[in-house]
Amino acid sequence: MSNPKRIVVKIGSSLLANTELLTPRWAFIQRLLDDVQVLRERGHEVLLCSSGAVALGLKTIGERPETAGLRDKQAAAACGMPVLLNAYKQVAHEFGFDIAQVLVTLRDLEDRRRFLNTKNTVHRLLQAGIVPIVNENDSITTEEIRVGDNDRLAAKVAQMVQAETLVILTSVDGLYDRDPSLEGAQLVETVDDVTEYLEVTEGVSSLGTGGMLTKMQAANMAQNAGCTTLIGNGETDDRPLLSLLDGERQHTRCIAHTRPDSAWTAWLTDRLQMAGSIVVSEDTIDAVCRNERGIRREDIHSIQGTFVKGDVIHIYDESGAERARGLANFTAEETLILARNQDIPAKQLLGYQTAATLVSRDNLVVLEDRHIPWDTPPEERRESVSTS
Ligand code: GLU
Repeated sequence: MSNPKRIVVKIGSSLLANTELLTPRWAFIQRLLDDVQVLRERGHEVLLCSSGAVALGLKTIGERPETAGLRDKQAAAACGMPVLLNAYKQVAHEFGFDIAQVLVTLRDLEDRRRFLNTKNTVHRLLQAGIVPIVNENDSITTEEIRVGDNDRLAAKVAQMVQAETLVILTSVDGLYDRDPSLEGAQLVETVDDVTEYLEVTEGVSSLGTGGMLTKMQAANMAQNAGCTTLIGNGETDDRPLLSLLDGERQHTRCIAHTRPDSAWTAWLTDRLQMAGSIVVSEDTIDAVCRNERGIRREDIHSIQGTFVKGDVIHIYDESGAERARGLANFTAEETLILARNQDIPAKQLLGYQTAATLVSRDNLVVLEDRHIPWDTPPEERRESVSTS
């Protein structure tokens, strides 16, 4: 590694917590932060996205990973978070640097205003030479507002800070071309198109929540934003991080796109939660692709979800293929009223003057093959615009 880089490192629970005792693995944390300090000395900025809060809190509430339910895990996270951060703090102190805790929920990443706020905080920490340690605020997140796994959370963080490299430290050597327990399974060293590997990536580790599938989704988000992802085993006697970054140990490298999305496009297209969607005609999609216009009320065939102004909505063609994503100018309810009453001026329907463009051209991104598309929501969840 030569030029200074911004590096995000995701660390899985099984590296940080002893699976049986559910206590911190101090020796690993020492090895990791030793590497972090070397990277800092080389001029790099490092952010950690650390799991382990749930695993390290289970014992306090008298639970085991195999049997704990969602509420147990949320309570465990509240107990384990100080244990985890205390371990990081003590060890970082030995190496002469400071750490800071940044707890986020899905909304802090997907809502534009909250995203920018979080980004500013993280940048301020980096500017002060502090290593931010990001984790999901598991104790207060409900199913609807959860990222759920730290692989994709780390990718979102990598996009947020426009990192050059995302390292996912886990308990396997990388991505295999088939289930690694099957005979003849081969480690894939380089991945250009992550979408080719989505089907072969199943299986979840016992302590964390993410399997190889979420790692591939994370790598896809990172590569769209111009960030290369290294997936490798953190379980080594020495230098878990540097040995991967310096290319001394086998791992999987998901290469960044040479034509990355802008920060804005990456934020808009790589979504973890769908607020809502609309179906439009092929003609509309064509016009949008030719960069001619946004989505107007007469273009809409059906609407799904309870989105509000400023939410990102998913735009499908009539065959059910997702083609674009964009920021809604109206709530779902207003959109439905506008679309169902096309002959009535918008002012009369909404009480204010508006061009009635649901998604403005500037706030709309046509999806390329490299973006993982979402399935169209089932028919029964869609409100048809035609009133007949
Ligand atoms: N946020 C969870 C924790 O701190 C981990 C989620 C994951 O492993 O992906 O325990």
